[in-house]
Amino acid sequence: MRTLLILLALSTASEPAPTQTPPVPPPAQARVPVPIPSEAAMRYYRSGVVLWFVGQAWLVFVPAVVLGTGLSARMRTLARKIGRSWFFTVGIFGVLYVALDGLLTMPLAYYAGYVRPHEYGLASAEYDLWQWLADEFKSLGVTASLAFVLLWLPALAIERLPRLWPFAVALGYVPIAFTLMFLAPLIVDPLFNSFGPMKDKALEARIVALADRAGIDGGQIFEIDKSKQTNTVNAYVKGFLGSKRIVLWDTLLKKLDDRQVLFVMGHEMGHYVLGHVVRTLLISTLGVLLLCLFLQTAGNALIGRYRHRWGFDRLSDPAALPLLLLLGNLFLVATSPIGMAYSRYQEHEADRFALELTHDNFAGASGFAALQRENLSNPRPGLLSKLWRSTHPPLGERIEFCNEYHPWETRGPLRYGSLFR
Ligand SMILES: [Zn+2]
Repeated sequence: MRTLLILLALSTASEPAPTQTPPVPPPAQARVPVPIPSEAAMRYYRSGVVLWFVGQAWLVFVPAVVLGTGLSARMRTLARKIGRSWFFTVGIFGVLYVALDGLLTMPLAYYAGYVRPHEYGLASAEYDLWQWLADEFKSLGVTASLAFVLLWLPALAIERLPRLWPFAVALGYVPIAFTLMFLAPLIVDPLFNSFGPMKDKALEARIVALADRAGIDGGQIFEIDKSKQTNTVNAYVKGFLGSKRIVLWDTLLKKLDDRQVLFVMGHEMGHYVLGHVVRTLLISTLGVLLLCLFLQTAGNALIGRYRHRWGFDRLSDPAALPLLLLLGNLFLVATSPIGMAYSRYQEHEADRFALELTHDNFAGASGFAALQRENLSNPRPGLLSKLWRSTHPPLGERIEFCNEYHPWETRGPLRYGSLFR
């Protein structure tokens, strides 16, 4: 066997080096096999499943402890002492709770967000403990500010409309969510990374031409310096109206070739043109309504039973916030397969959009193979993992779809052909 290898090596070495002709790019319909995941990728996947269970349990455990020990009621009394008025009591309680939860969750966040990515080589080498801590405190600051500014709205609805508040909250959710969606890329995201125009102008010109064909006028494209935090690759669409943009991580631009980047952009343009962000928000309004109806029924029943132990007797008491969070997290775990299935559907349609726009099956499939390698993904997660944790179709399915979907070859109908220019 070894001799054979040496012979093979010698025979390839003796061939004339093809320095004159540049390598021929693979044709658009060249098939890409689903890569076999590395041993590290499988370890990362399995430990990720365990971490997911721990994370879910923690989301219920923390509010349960704060409730059961009567700490919540004592925090409300303290918030009232500092805030005096109802409005400030609610806001200050929210800030205190976010701070306490952040502190209790810090060890888990440290392992999941710092130790683990470094262990697997997924974090950038320059992303040190101080930078991680800075990011962590910034996001805690954002959450605490949001709690202070917004919490009084549902609290007021629960107080004034004890029966109808789930409907009021679901109605109020729509304008607030749209406002946050508009502001997030302008105010929050720049706290963590800098956003700039694409550096590769030739590639940018090709992307702009592709966007024009996809029917996008004046879309904004940003390059973001994610390499300071991570080695993984990604891109996303975010924002609303004037703040709507496609964002490319610089790591993706470094590790994917131009054809693969164009395919990824085609996918993001799919989300953009098909209005996925807005659709998700509108559909989630129904989820918010169901969640609130559940919180109302279960919350009132539990308060009826445990009010002496917990130290409050109404759902509108700020001290009931941990109860709402506990029940809310249970509701989300129970219903997340629905949201995940919808998300996977949108991602699949964005893949279809990219294929119909670029006709470059090879770029899509090989791009996903690169994504699998760089992000240590398992191309074929187990069924339960897919149902509960996968916002995207498994990479194995995405690669196979890229290999197989080319109706333009046989002049078949395109689903999104009418949208292209
Ligand atoms: Zn997507």
